[in-house]
Amino acid sequence: MKDDNYIWFTPGVNPPEHNEDNEIWFIFSENKLMIQETEEIVAMPNIEDINKYKKYFKHVNYVGQAREEYCYAAEVSETDIIDESYKFYDFRSIVSNMNDEEFLLCSKAIQVINWDKDNKFCGRCGSPMKNSDSERAKICPKCGSTNYPRISPAVIVAITKGDKLLLAHNKNFRQKMYSLIAGFMEVGETFEQCVRREIMEEVGIKVNNIKYFQSQPWPFPNSLMIAFTAEYDEGEINPDGVEIEDAGWYSVDNMPNIPKSGSVARKLIDWFMGNGQLTIDN
Ligand SMILES: [Zn+2]
Repeated sequence: MKDDNYIWFTPGVNPPEHNEDNEIWFIFSENKLMIQETEEIVAMPNIEDINKYKKYFKHVNYVGQAREEYCYAAEVSETDIIDESYKFYDFRSIVSNMNDEEFLLCSKAIQVINWDKDNKFCGRCGSPMKNSDSERAKICPKCGSTNYPRISPAVIVAITKGDKLLLAHNKNFRQKMYSLIAGFMEVGETFEQCVRREIMEEVGIKVNNIKYFQSQPWPFPNSLMIAFTAEYDEGEINPDGVEIEDAGWYSVDNMPNIPKSGSVARKLIDWFMGNGQLTIDN
């Protein structure tokens, strides 16, 4: 039986034979996504306009096939697009307006563009790099060093204590928002060790029963969030004062200002609140 959701995206570096009817282009100007102003909230540029503006595109890369559509990424300067039906929106600010697939496709596109931009030269010998024709890699023709897109894993964890959830205010958060404990992995560390270390560093408590929840690429700029649940074990909350300014236990009927939908942080919080949508299988 055909299952469209089992593998809906196949990465690739070699574009198919010319097939304009099924192309979809993700155009960025720095971190801003070019969107057509239509009835829909998020609509990518149509192919006639892509052809019109193609001469201005840089870092053009074939990204892969999403179901029947061939996905491309490119960068353009905002000032080269004079058509008023197009607008550039900060990608991060519109995540909650996208469905999961739209978000993942845009995430792939912007990371391919940034990788292409940031890896022109070999980090080992300084020679200009060449794209591999078989995989997403750049190879140094002089010393052979190979460079793949960088993915930076980070853990995020919902810590529960009975019917309460630990939420913390990070000093880098905009406004008075509270979210979950999260942090980047160190080299040579397991997920579980990272979960325990980050929680101990940031709020000074011990947890147990660490369980995998789900993952989400978070392309700001190249994170991969690996989400867990865990249960409080022992210790008093003691915010580190460096990253975490305040933290506490919150019950469903007493939630502070929490992240918008679209992030895995919010999915974990929704799970805690009992209205989680645990159907994300991407
Ligand atoms: Zn080299």
